[in-house]
Amino acid sequence: MNIAVVCWQELNYLKQMARIRYKDGFPVPRGYEGITLFPFGIYIRLRWRHNKVLINHEKIHWQQQKECLCIFFYILYGAMYLINLVKYRNHSDAYRNIPFEREANRHECNMSYLAKRPKFNWIRWKIV
Ligand SMILES: [Zn+2]
Repeated sequence: MNIAVVCWQELNYLKQMARIRYKDGFPVPRGYEGITLFPFGIYIRLRWRHNKVLINHEKIHWQQQKECLCIFFYILYGAMYLINLVKYRNHSDAYRNIPFEREANRHECNMSYLAKRPKFNWIRWKIV
C-alpha cells in the first residue's frame, strides 16, 4: 500500500480518537467517575482508570459530542434533562433517560460498538 495512503489513514484514525486523561478533581464533577469534554478530552478518575466499560461509555459520548458539533450536544443534553426532570420529578431518572445516556448505557459493554455505530444513533431513544 502507498505510504501516503497509510499516513492519511493513520492521521484520520488519530483524529477520531479521544485523548483520555486520568485524574481526580477538576473537571470531573463530584459524584461522577468521568466526564467527556470534546474537543479537550475524556477525563476519568484515577481509581476508575482500568474500567473499560466506563472508558467505552465516555468514548460513546465523545462521538455524540463530535457529531453534534459539541455546542448542540450540551444544548440538547440540558433541554432533554429539563424535560425529563418535569416528567420523572427526580434527578437520577431524568439523567439516566437522556437519549445520549441511554445510548451510552445500552452499548458501554460492547467494545466493538463504536466501530459499527451509525451516526446520530442516540436519536433512536426518544425522551417521551
Ligand atoms: Zn454518560
